[in-house]
Amino acid sequence: MPDTVITPSIPTAAVTPAILEGLRAIVGDKGLIQDEQGKQPFVTDWRGSTVGTAAVVVRPATVEETSKVVKLCFDNGIAIVPQAGNTGLMGGATPWPTHTGIVLSVGRMNKVINVDPVGYSMTVEAGCILQTLQETAASHDRFLPLSLGAQGSCMIGGNLSTNAGGVQVLRYGNARNLVMGLEVVLPNGDIWNGLRALKKDNTGYDLKHLFMGAEGTLGIITKAVLKIWPKPKDVATAWIALRDPQAAIEILSEAHGASEDNVGSCELMSRACTDMVLRHIPGTQDPLKADTPWYLLLEWTSSRPKSDGAEGMSDKMEQFLADQMEAGRVLDAVIAQNESQARNMWVIRESVAPASRAEGPGLSYDISVAVSKIPEFLDKGIKASLDILPSIRPYPLGHIGDGNVHFSFMGPKGMDRATLGQYSPAITRAVNDLVTSMAGSISAEHGIGIDKLDELAHYRSKTELDTMRTIKRALDPKNIMNPGKVLRLA
Ligand SMILES: Cc1cc2nc3c(=O)[nH]c(=O)nc-3n(C[C@H](O)[C@H](O)[C@H](O)COP(=O)(O)OP(=O)(O)OC[C@H]3O[C@@H](n4cnc5c(N)ncnc54)[C@H](O)[C@@H]3O)c2cc1C
Repeated sequence: MPDTVITPSIPTAAVTPAILEGLRAIVGDKGLIQDEQGKQPFVTDWRGSTVGTAAVVVRPATVEETSKVVKLCFDNGIAIVPQAGNTGLMGGATPWPTHTGIVLSVGRMNKVINVDPVGYSMTVEAGCILQTLQETAASHDRFLPLSLGAQGSCMIGGNLSTNAGGVQVLRYGNARNLVMGLEVVLPNGDIWNGLRALKKDNTGYDLKHLFMGAEGTLGIITKAVLKIWPKPKDVATAWIALRDPQAAIEILSEAHGASEDNVGSCELMSRACTDMVLRHIPGTQDPLKADTPWYLLLEWTSSRPKSDGAEGMSDKMEQFLADQMEAGRVLDAVIAQNESQARNMWVIRESVAPASRAEGPGLSYDISVAVSKIPEFLDKGIKASLDILPSIRPYPLGHIGDGNVHFSFMGPKGMDRATLGQYSPAITRAVNDLVTSMAGSISAEHGIGIDKLDELAHYRSKTELDTMRTIKRALDPKNIMNPGKVLRLA
């Protein structure tokens, strides 16, 4: 949690022995974790930097149990922190240190209810691990495009609640674009069944979009109907040494046509990020030993298998990269020759977060600007940050096709977390002011949680904040659902 965040006032009703017995009657002993050691992983965030408390962790097995637990909490004013895989990076799933209520984990609701390959949808419970859902779709010759570094442990309920992005947004949109229907337990315990597998449904307000991206502040997502797509059959993955970030966006702009609209992913990597992963993540290998600060991981995918003798994705990409080299944008490039080479490229990209955790204290900003403004943002943002702390080490990377930069820094060598923290407010202000001056967003995909509570309040208009507060108060009049996250009510 940033040192500067002042804990908001949240409900303080205690879980009395009678309430605890009420919870036990609903979920049984299997659904309760009371001992401190057992609770530890649920009250500590993924980064290990935010630690809270909870009277008890409650793990309902069904929506009916979830509804009864929430109703009991509502009647007694008990605060609830919903949690799925606990991989969120903004502290949204972590209780405040002053939290006296429960953590409600959806992890036991982990069934795939139905896969409809013909209708291209699947209905799933909120506690399903994302990777399991990808594998389930693949086993039906279908593709669930949501894909991110934490996919082995994050859960779909958490993905939807954070409206997660990841590496396929460019083509398929972010998590909310993959959803046709939801089931949600509201803060008073009522169940809203919106599990409709419909692409068209203009029947009043589209409630499902309220809950996606709400980070658990408006209710608990218990099930979802997800869209799925044809499984990619012909894939070309390249690691490209670039002239500069401007070349990256020009390459992407040309790649859409050259690939016949088959660009799946386009990820900007800095040399510093790649080197950090190679230092910390065993088994990773540098795909291309080129001496340049910027690289691109570009992937084209087609659902049509390459037929013998015909031109496939790799052939088209090879020609494209040769043209881009001639245009001076590409300095060098390698196309993966097999799945394991492609996997190595992806492991490097997906391991930046764990590698930076191993590297030491740092600062990270998850921003977005219009795609064409990324080079200007990088240039000005790095200069502004170095002006404040000249020895800070920039480690930028990004989902460049979405205009999303993970604008990250490692602290100067040898500087401890507390000292780096003294520079954090000034760098944060400089970065977020720059983003705002460029009509960008201070949180592209990770949300607000605890970490950006005051930043949201600083940068959003009174009208926007008041509208959000009105929605929050209408749905959660007792402020029990993930209180004090995303939005300060007063
Ligand atoms: C290595 C790594 C890589 C990552 N890469 C990306 C990336 O590329 N793109 C991206 O967007 N994010 C990324 N993240 C962040 C994180 O994985 C995502 O935000 C993910 O969607 C969170 O899912 P989760 O199941 O872990 O949710 P949690 O961390 O458990 O919860 C996240 C938020 O949702 C709420 N919540 C959880 N479940 C529910 C529910 N069922 N109903 C209502 N509210 C709920 C919580 O209260 C919390 O506010 C990454 C994280 C890591 C550690």
